[in-house]
This record gives sequence, C-alpha cells and structure tokens, in this order.
Amino acid sequence: MSLTVPSAPVDIAEHFPSLVPYARAVTLLYPRIGNPGREDSSLGGPLLWPADETWPTCAATDHYNPARDCAVVGPVPVAMAPVLQLFRRDVPALAFPPGTDVLQVLWCPLVHSEHDQWSPVPVLRWRSTVEVLAEPLLEQATPPYEFDDDYVPQPCVVHPTGTVEYPNWDLPAELLERVGEWSAELEETVGISYFDAFTTQQSKVGGYPGWMQEPDWPDCACGIPMEHLLTISASESCGRWLPVEERTRPGSGWEVRAHGEHEEEDSHGMAMGDCGGVYVFLCRSCPGWPSVHRYDC
Ligand SMILES: [Zn+2]
Ligand SMILES: [Zn+2]
Repeated sequence: MSLTVPSAPVDIAEHFPSLVPYARAVTLLYPRIGNPGREDSSLGGPLLWPADETWPTCAATDHYNPARDCAVVGPVPVAMAPVLQLFRRDVPALAFPPGTDVLQVLWCPLVHSEHDQWSPVPVLRWRSTVEVLAEPLLEQATPPYEFDDDYVPQPCVVHPTGTVEYPNWDLPAELLERVGEWSAELEETVGISYFDAFTTQQSKVGGYPGWMQEPDWPDCACGIPMEHLLTISASESCGRWLPVEERTRPGSGWEVRAHGEHEEEDSHGMAMGDCGGVYVFLCRSCPGWPSVHRYDC
C-alpha cells in the first residue's frame, strides 16, 4: 500500500525553473517493521527462492565484523542476508529485464575493504515469479553464522510511493551555488531548506543518491555513467517526507521526525555506520545489466 507524501512547500517551476530539468521520478519505500511473507515486497523479509538453488554465501578473504575487534572472518563462507525484495506490481516505475518481475537484493552482513568502501557488498537477482512458483520453494534461508547487526535489517513491509525529487550535490557548481542561496532564503521564508524539501535520504528506487560525501557516480566498463537503481539507507523519512498517514500533529510540520524518539524502532534498525546508505547502480546497455555499489556515510 502506498502512502501520501505531503505536497511541496513551493512550486519549483515557479520559484527556481533552472532546476526543472533535474526532476526525477523516485519511489520511496517507507520500510516499517512488520511480518512480510515470501510473496510480498519487503525490506529484510523472506525471499521467494527455489529450494534447489544454493543460498548465496560470501567467502571474501578480507571481510570482518567491526563489533568483534575487526578480526577477519573465515574460512567458512558467510551466508548472505536478505535485504530487499520488490515485485514489479508494487514498483511500476521500475523497469525489469524481460521475463522477470521480482528483484532481490542480498548482501554479506560484514564489512568488506573492497575498493576501500568498508561496506557490505550487495548482489542482485532478477527472477520470474511464475518460474519460481512452479518448483518447490526454500522454506528457511541459511542464517549467517557471523554478522554485523548494523547490516542485518529487521523484517519490514514496504509502502512503495511514487513522487519526484531533485539532486542534492549532483548539480553543476554554478547552479549548486545559486541553489544554496535559494535554500537559505526558503528556510527563512517557509521554514524548510531546499535540501530537506526536495531531496531525500531514505530507502528508495530511482531518483538520486542522497550523497553525504562528494558524489562518486560510477561509469560502466562500456563508458557510460551508470543509473542509480536503488538506495538502502539508515535514515527513513522525516520532515517533509514523513507521510501524511504517520503525522500525529496537524499542520505542515516540516520539523517532525518519524515517530518522535522511537523512529529507529519502527523501521529496519540498521545504522549502517553513521546514518549511512548503500547505493546500487546498474547499466542497462550491457548484457546482464551489471551493477556496482557505493557506500556513503
Ligand atoms: Zn563477505
Ligand atoms: Zn555498460
């Protein structure tokens, strides 16, 4: 079930038309603690998985659990954790490879030094529901024998909700400077900055990465910039992006955080470093739609 995003505090086309070409469709996921089934879209829920397909494991030689003195884990491979499952029916804006209608994201819930990112490394599976349901299903996924609970989500139902967002730092320098000035003005006049009102830092499909550090947009081996497929983020909606259905106070309430002090109890509970996020990018021009990730915190 989708939620209702409060309308924007001002009309960008009227107040800052230079930003209009940067508008991008985004589907905000709004993960909330729940009891999703394997045939539901979910964050941290069970995956629709064929019984005869080996559960993916990670045997990286450098992965470790920072909660345990950063000792390298091994030599037994670590089972990956289910992170995200999205059915096409729930995210109509997401284009799937032909013949598939469910996207699954898993990762090894340990820290990897690969490419100096110090993060979990996500893997993607695109599947056909009809094909998976034609064979016996896996009843119980293998739990990882070692994990950093910063990277194991609590099971959440999702509420994919389509809206529009704009870039935070992915703008030409001159435009970004003008946006910064306008943002300060907005904060004075309507009580919310451009960055809080028009950019998001929460789990989503499409749109822009909510960069906290310098943008580090990957290029594919074929030479073109990759597409931002999705973000899994520690923070899950506040201020303007807190859905109408979860607002207990009347008014625009731009300052409202989700569920007051209990925000973290209502979502997946991953801190991901310090309010971090994992951004997954892919290239639809190359066979197999290769993907890479960036970690930001
Ligand atoms: Zn690993
Ligand atoms: Zn490519």
